[in-house]
Amino acid sequence: MRRFFVSPEQLRDESVELDADLLRHLSVLRLREGDEILLFDGTGRAARCRIELLTRRQGRVRCLERWCEEESALSVHLLQGTPKGDKMDVVLQKGVELGLSRITPVTSARSVTRNAGSARRQERWRRIVNEAARQSRRPILPRLDAAVPLPEALNGCDAEVRLLLWEEGARPLHDVLPQGRPASVAILVGPEGGLSAEEAKLARLEGFAPVHLGPRILRTETAALAVTSVLQYLYGDWAQRSPAEAGGGGIPT
Ligand code: SAH
Repeated sequence: MRRFFVSPEQLRDESVELDADLLRHLSVLRLREGDEILLFDGTGRAARCRIELLTRRQGRVRCLERWCEEESALSVHLLQGTPKGDKMDVVLQKGVELGLSRITPVTSARSVTRNAGSARRQERWRRIVNEAARQSRRPILPRLDAAVPLPEALNGCDAEVRLLLWEEGARPLHDVLPQGRPASVAILVGPEGGLSAEEAKLARLEGFAPVHLGPRILRTETAALAVTSVLQYLYGDWAQRSPAEAGGGGIPT
């Protein structure tokens, strides 16, 4: 069944009026009155709904059944130095697929994007996050912050384990990660030009441990995705039995 995000306010009612974006989406998918869809409010609440009315201008669905869904207990917050061009799009799309729970675009000394903070760009990024969460069937919509300067981004981070991806760092990731699963991990990645020595120092003062990812210099859009995968493998839902298997009905190996 097709799935879509709506706001928590919209999902509260038995009968949900659809906004223009969702209307367009439903008609592109050739859905019709009488068809059923799944709506998620981005916080884990879900509903199976029937389309009651669907015209070009107006749409309404009725909720038939409601439930709540949860996600991996590991929360990963990415603080990403804003890269050039469309590279942030890739980071957002792939990062959401891999399970990031929060993304803060960071303008830093060597960021070259001039309009990182523009409302248009923010809206574009929000759409990419929304679409990636929908496509990857996440019940929770990851939080996307507005682009902020590094000190502000560091200040707004409350993760238990904080990693500074620093190609000049002395310690490997393996040495810094704890044995047991932390509640939350933050990853700070520089833009194409890297972080300046002062910025790295500032991050260390805020409790970010500098780690290297080996001798190869990764592109900024690769670094966060590589580390997010490692975290999912060690502590996240890649390390858990699938719900089907836990219930005894798993795929035979
Ligand atoms: N300063 C470098 C490369 C920057 S790469 C230069 O211009 O030559 C962009 C970002 O990716 C870095 O700021 C860092 O956060 C991350 N990164 C890339 N390769 C890395 C590695 N081998 N170890 C740790 N972090 C790395």
